[in-house]
Amino acid sequence: MASITLDNLGKVYPGGTRAVGDVNMQIADGEFIVLVGPSGCGKSTLLRMVAGLESITEGEVRIGDRVVNTVEPADRDIAMVFQNYALYPHMSVRQNLAYGLKNRGTSKAEITRRVDEAAEILQIGQFLDRKPRALSGGQRQRVAMGRAIVREPAAFLFDEPLSNLDAKLRVAMRLEIKELQRRLRTTSLYVTHDQLEAMTLADRLVVLNGGQVEQIGTPLEVYRNP
Ligand code: ADP
Ligand code: ADP
Repeated sequence: MASITLDNLGKVYPGGTRAVGDVNMQIADGEFIVLVGPSGCGKSTLLRMVAGLESITEGEVRIGDRVVNTVEPADRDIAMVFQNYALYPHMSVRQNLAYGLKNRGTSKAEITRRVDEAAEILQIGQFLDRKPRALSGGQRQRVAMGRAIVREPAAFLFDEPLSNLDAKLRVAMRLEIKELQRRLRTTSLYVTHDQLEAMTLADRLVVLNGGQVEQIGTPLEVYRNP
C-alpha cells in the first residue's frame, strides 16, 4: 500500500483547454477517496494522469514518495478498474486472471495462490473455467476487479466501474466493493457520478468543479454543506 500525493497538479490539453488546475491532495495509505463533480469537470483527466494514461503538464503525482510523472503505467504499482470489462474473450476466467502475472514472470505457485484468493474474495471460484461470454455482466465486472486484485498493487484506480450495470447489479456490486475495501484496505481513488456510490464508499469525497477542487471532506461534511 502507498499514499498518493497530488502536488499542484494541472493539465492543459494541446489546443489550450485547461482540464485540471492547481489540485493539491493527499490520499493516505489505505484511504478510499471518491472523486465527484459535473460532467467535464476533469475527473477522468485527473484519474488518467495518476494512472499514467495522460501526460502531466503541471505539478506532480507521487505514489509513496516516488514521483511518477514520467513512469510508465505498468511500472506505477497501481491497478485500474474500467467500466468496460476489457477481458480476453478467448481465455477462461482463470487465464484472464493469471495472464498479467505470467507475463511478469510470477511463479506458478504464486499465481495459483493469488488467483484462488481473488476468486474467493469475489466469489467467482465456480466460474474459473468459463469464458467471459458465459458470464453475466456482474460476474464479468468481478473478473475485471479480480485482474486488478491479483496484481496486489499499492493502489486501485476506479473509473466509473459500475456505470454499465443495471440498477440492481449496481447496488450489489457497490456492496461488494465496500467489502473489498474492508478486507484489503488498499489506497483507492474512485471516480463516479453516482451519489449513492460516493456516499457509501468514500472515506473522503473530493468535489471537482472546472478542474479545481471545490470541496474535500467526509460524505457527511460535503453533503451537509453543499
Ligand atoms: P469528466 O471526466 O469530469 O467528465 P474530463 O476530464 O473528461 O471530465 O474533461 C475535462 C475537460 O477537458 C473537458 O472540458 C473536456 O472537454 C476536456 N478534454 C478531455 N479530454 C480531452 C482531450 N483529449 N483533448 C482536449 N480536451 C479534452
Ligand atoms: P498484463 O499482461 O500485465 O495484464 P496487459 O497486456 O493486459 O498487461 O496490458 C498491458 C500493460 O498494462 C501491461 O504493461 C500491464 O502491466 C498494464 N496493465 C494491465 N492491467 C492493468 C491494470 N488493471 N491496471 C494498470 N495497468 C495494467
